[in-house]
Amino acid sequence: MNIPDSSLTRIVIIGAGFGGLKLARYLNKKDNQVVLIDKNNYHTFQPLLYQVATAGLEPDSIAHAIRTLFKNEKNFHFRIADVETIDTAKNTIHTNIGDLSFDKLIVATGSTTNFYGNEEIERNAMSMKTIPEALDLRSLILQNLEKALLTDDLKERKELMNFVIVGGGPTGVELAGALGELKNHVLHNDYPDLDIRIMNVHLVQSGDRLLPGFSDKASAKAEKYLRDMDVHLWLNTRVLNYDGQFVDTNVKDLYANTLIWAAGVKGDLIYGFPKDAIVDNRLKVNQFNQVEGFEHIFAIGDVACMVSEEYPHGHPMVAQPAIQQGLRLAKNLNNLSRSKPMKEFKYSDKGAMATIGRNKAVADLGKYSFSGWFAWMIWIFVHLVSLVGFRNKMVALVNWVTQYFSYNKSVRLIIRPYHGKAKEQPVMKDVEPES
Ligand SMILES: Cc1cc2nc3c(=O)[nH]c(=O)nc-3n(C[C@H](O)[C@H](O)[C@H](O)COP(=O)(O)OP(=O)(O)OC[C@H]3O[C@@H](n4cnc5c(N)ncnc54)[C@H](O)[C@@H]3O)c2cc1C
Repeated sequence: MNIPDSSLTRIVIIGAGFGGLKLARYLNKKDNQVVLIDKNNYHTFQPLLYQVATAGLEPDSIAHAIRTLFKNEKNFHFRIADVETIDTAKNTIHTNIGDLSFDKLIVATGSTTNFYGNEEIERNAMSMKTIPEALDLRSLILQNLEKALLTDDLKERKELMNFVIVGGGPTGVELAGALGELKNHVLHNDYPDLDIRIMNVHLVQSGDRLLPGFSDKASAKAEKYLRDMDVHLWLNTRVLNYDGQFVDTNVKDLYANTLIWAAGVKGDLIYGFPKDAIVDNRLKVNQFNQVEGFEHIFAIGDVACMVSEEYPHGHPMVAQPAIQQGLRLAKNLNNLSRSKPMKEFKYSDKGAMATIGRNKAVADLGKYSFSGWFAWMIWIFVHLVSLVGFRNKMVALVNWVTQYFSYNKSVRLIIRPYHGKAKEQPVMKDVEPES
């Protein structure tokens, strides 16, 4: 991998997501050689993927080139690589571009879509975890409308214009709202010769309310907003199968060419850890983020499961635990290199937010629950502050201000047509732990 030999402690970080990036930025690079590895040369701001998928933002404004964040930093190295296995006995990682030894390793690989073992759904559903997937979805939505315009078969047209979203968490709710806005305010201008009233957005949720984890007030408000936008809500409904056309549920049969799976994630594990170190598809860590059984291997963010009395199933798989763990671990590793003790991680819950559309958002902040314009402004402010890079903040702001006045989601482009999932694409890449 062409990393220079050094007498410093080599700290290897796998993943430049919210957690890995925070850690890499705050690690002391005088005492340590820091190597950051990611599959991509950019950081993805996942909370706004749905806006890319629904033509609200261009992909560049939610991605940030990793190298630009570490310009001229000494003892820092970045490599684009896919880490395939970890040899915990030899302290070495194996990647598609070569092997690398480490003194300390941090796994910050985030999570991947969880299809709960249903290979047929995995083969036929769209997921939205990466920028290429969001772009595929954008293309598919627009391609379907173009096809609907050409067919004389009403059943086929309806199926092309039916969009089923599975999962009533923040991702599903935000996506349903954005598709509802496209239908109600944008598409009739683009397709005057297509009856856009035929288009239907269905949101399927297995529980009895949307936004589990949010307050009752926020979830009731989100439900009202979506119903007002003509989104069909199917609560207490489970999708059992999907063959690319027929959506089999326990309540209502639906037919749709597009099903978007937003019903769960699981830790993006790498081969090489013993069984004891894995719990619920995540790496089991202690309060210092050390992986069970290892003093020098750590995990942070979505892939890490830190069980405590308050969080018996680990922290929620959202950005804040990853960011806070990244920062705490940076301080702890800096302490260690100066022979100072580490401090336990304590999560500070900053609340939860979801936006459904223009002036329509819900926000639970501490014991207060907001909705409407004020919550929407909070949502915009928080996302602008959190986006990485000044240019991205400005582009997003300009887009949102323009859309506020014109309702126009201007990135309705099929740059790279979507032709379905590649046949040879492996499904169900699950990590078999070592026994
Ligand atoms: C559509 C969507 C919407 C979301 N909305 C919100 C929201 O509104 N609010 C919120 O707080 N959270 C939201 N989240 C969740 C949030 O994005 C995650 O919790 C957060 O990204 C986790 O951070 P992380 O550092 O653990 O991992 P990530 O940010 O996922 O980063 C993991 C990194 O590891 C890299 N990687 C993975 N495997 C390998 C490998 N083998 N080799 C090399 N590199 C690898 C990946 O390329 C990636 O860059 C959303 C997630 C999605 C998908």
